[in-house]
Amino acid sequence: MNVYDSTRMSDVLAPLGYLPTDQPDGADMIILNTCHIREKASEKVFSELGRLKQMKQEKSADGGRMILAVAGCVAQAEGDEILRRAPQVDLVFGPQTYHRLPELVTRTLRDENAGGVLDIDFPLESKFDALPEESVVEGSAAFLSIQEGCDKFCTFCVVPYTRGAEFSRPASDIFAEAQRLVAAGAREITLLGQNVNAYHGSAPSSVFAAQSGASVTPGTWGLGRLLRYLAEIDGLERLRYTTSHPRDMDDELIAVHGDEPKVMPYLHLPVQSGSDRILEAMNRRHTADDYRRIVERLRESCPQLALSSDFIVGFPGERDEDFADTLRLITDVGYAQAYSFKYSPRPGTPAEAIEQQIDETVKSERLETLQNLLSAQQVAFNQASVGHTMPVLMEKTGRREHQLSGRSPFMQSVFVEANRRLLGEVVEVRIDKAHARSLEGSVVTGSYNGIAAAGATSSSQAPSSSQATGPVGGPAMEAAS
Ligand code: SAM
Ligand code: SF4
Repeated sequence: MNVYDSTRMSDVLAPLGYLPTDQPDGADMIILNTCHIREKASEKVFSELGRLKQMKQEKSADGGRMILAVAGCVAQAEGDEILRRAPQVDLVFGPQTYHRLPELVTRTLRDENAGGVLDIDFPLESKFDALPEESVVEGSAAFLSIQEGCDKFCTFCVVPYTRGAEFSRPASDIFAEAQRLVAAGAREITLLGQNVNAYHGSAPSSVFAAQSGASVTPGTWGLGRLLRYLAEIDGLERLRYTTSHPRDMDDELIAVHGDEPKVMPYLHLPVQSGSDRILEAMNRRHTADDYRRIVERLRESCPQLALSSDFIVGFPGERDEDFADTLRLITDVGYAQAYSFKYSPRPGTPAEAIEQQIDETVKSERLETLQNLLSAQQVAFNQASVGHTMPVLMEKTGRREHQLSGRSPFMQSVFVEANRRLLGEVVEVRIDKAHARSLEGSVVTGSYNGIAAAGATSSSQAPSSSQATGPVGGPAMEAAS
């Protein structure tokens, strides 16, 4: 979401003459787009501001002026505090006000000694209505924000306070933005939202439908319906979405995984804990078995579905047996990859006030045990891909000469030796080798518009291995024959 927001900030600033740069030294403006989700992430902001202060002074000594801005959720949560602790900061604005950047920048430039400009409103107008059309698409995989904010109020989480109430963009706006992204070169779009499957945007008007040539039904749409609509866009080959809440996996969304080939067989579905006691204390509003049942239904719909999740260890009051329940859930489900964190008390959240906070050493031990289990599952999942041929979207050049990297349908990073002409294409790759976090493969000759790719090996050399043997939901693509 922050990557998406940053590109949109570039779009807003472009008419003022600002261009993105890879080199912060000497820049006219530096925006730190920040995350407040865990303490570590927000601490980084202040240490980075110390480093940037020096850069700003150097620019000033050379007779220039650098605007130093802090954006994002740390800005939203700690706006005044940032200006007090870091007077080198000129401008602080939250995630819902960056469409006002031209005005904020003008105010900042006008009054250098005003002590910092602050805008952390939750404005009535939607920023999406005020943003210009997006100008930058980097590479073939793009992000598109469709939903923001959250009304779930999990007791550990700051999102409802920093991003505000749930809001869904109208389907026609999303469709138009997706069309522009595809016209600019995107082959894959990941739909974004803090709670993306809570999406409930207004359906396109019949006028818009007539113009776009797409089929529509009136009313409010859920994510499943939106995905079907976006899948109608020619040239768009892959759709993903993140991040989802288990309670919002409705029938249509589950069905779409089974019958819409453009929706990739990979789902990030955070569960946080496998203990019902902890899930209740977290206010997750589902049990561990509810989650297991959802996964079962998803796999009935899409047998090859690979899953990922988020886990928090050391939530206040978590006992050994609760943690054991989490390990059991992981073993039952089988993940292709996952993200796991030590619980981090966040200011103003209900869990921060719970008395039985867990000792840091215990948290670290649990995290290590959990990560060992998850890594073993990821390794097994990757190993199970070897010998299979799967479509890979070539996204960027690798570190080695003639190396490209892309993504498998299951979000695995895949490295191949291939011609740069394949960038932005979906090509068939036979997987030769698995690493802990990536795969290596060879482009199957002729899989790219009939053009033989450099480094490609003949498909007749591919092993004729049968079905994958990894975790449930492991790669079930056909072995090349
Ligand atoms: N909406 C998603 C859901 O309901 O699961 C989660 C989105 S949240 C922005 C991303 C992840 O950060 C969460 O799934 C959770 O694992 C982690 N997280 C959030 N607050 C945390 C905290 N206080 N301490 C540790 N991890 C946290
Ligand atoms: Fe945070 Fe996700 Fe819970 Fe919303 S549903 S409060 S974003 S963890």
